Amino acid sequence: MRALYIGRFQPYHLGHHSVIEEIALEADEIIICIGSAQRSHELENPFTAGERYLMISKSLRDKGIANFYIVPILDVNWNAVWVSHVESLIPPVDVAYTNNPLIERLFEERGYDVRVPLMFNRKEYSGSEIRRRMLNGESWEGLVPKAVAEVINEIAGLRRMKALSMSDL
Ligand code: ATP
Ligand code: MG
Repeated sequence: MRALYIGRFQPYHLGHHSVIEEIALEADEIIICIGSAQRSHELENPFTAGERYLMISKSLRDKGIANFYIVPILDVNWNAVWVSHVESLIPPVDVAYTNNPLIERLFEERGYDVRVPLMFNRKEYSGSEIRRRMLNGESWEGLVPKAVAEVINEIAGLRRMKALSMSDL
């Protein structure tokens, strides 16, 4: 069985990581799509697709998971054709895993078997919460896999976020 998992991963955190670990128990292969791949250097989307690629691949390798393929997906801003757009970029999949109700709807309408994974500690394992902590100088490293903290430090991610929060006024 080949499974699909989609997210923006800004950044990849322990909630995503736990879901993928569970999918890996059932699936022969996991296709991980990095959504909104073109977006970066924004407070809501600070990291590039390449940086997110590094975060995911290093974290999964550290867990001994190797049967994954990562595919960056650009936004098309056209919900009715979005699933076809994704299909044009990925290998065929049997199951789509998502907690996002819109993604669930769009894949279901195209006849996919959609499964909704359990949420893990959603209050803290949340991209928005982690970005908020980074900007406020609160501790966030415990909410992401070790490899993600290393990538963010390597690319000076905190400095980038602080710069993005400045205005020229
Ligand atoms: P943001 O706050 O930026 O939207 P996010 O934490 O929701 O970040 P996404 O990249 O938007 O992360 O989510 C990708 C997928 O992972 C979505 O289906 C989302 O619902 C799911 N997800 C997010 N947090 C968790 C969690 N703690 N446990 C399980 N799934 C999660
Ligand atoms: Mg989200």
